[in-house]
Amino acid sequence: MTTVMYFETNSPEETEALGCALGKTLSAGAWVGLDGDLGAGKTCFTRGIAAGVGVPTGCPVTSPTFTLLNVYEGDLMLYHLDLYRLSSEDDLEAIGYYDLFTDEGVVLVEWASRILSSAPERHLSFFIEQMSETSRRFALTLHGWTEEEREALGSSLSNWSTSEA
Ligand code: ADP
Ligand code: MG
Repeated sequence: MTTVMYFETNSPEETEALGCALGKTLSAGAWVGLDGDLGAGKTCFTRGIAAGVGVPTGCPVTSPTFTLLNVYEGDLMLYHLDLYRLSSEDDLEAIGYYDLFTDEGVVLVEWASRILSSAPERHLSFFIEQMSETSRRFALTLHGWTEEEREALGSSLSNWSTSEA
């Protein structure tokens, strides 16, 4: 089942708080894709998710633009990819992307639409849109989630919920 939910934030701090609330709900094996223009807030959101999965505050979370992959250790491992400079699927092999699935962590991918065919069947994908200088709209598509799981996630993130319009 595929459904879409919408959220809105009005500051970087709010985006981090939304990410943190999401991170707290994630379990090992989760795969989260982020798309949106440069400056949309993908890395800001990731910073919140890192906090939510227990990565110590003070551990810098920045876009792995040149290395493609950053690894953070929290209650769960967090594998943070940024595929802006991905040149071919061979690069994924080179950074060990396919080995991440056998591990006990959360995989988070900036510019995920570049490798959607390499996403597991069950995953989350966010599209972040810049509505104004400080306002961001998040469209979340749930792939392979049950209705029950969707409702649980929706109530965890209800502070930031907005309607489709
Ligand atoms: P990306 O990783 O998508 O390129 P970043 O997270 O690195 O984007 O940058 C987002 C920029 O937008 C930051 O400079 C941040 O301060 C700014 N910003 C303004 N409002 C928001 C918001 N509501 N959510 C996230 N970032 C915001
Ligand atoms: Mg980024």
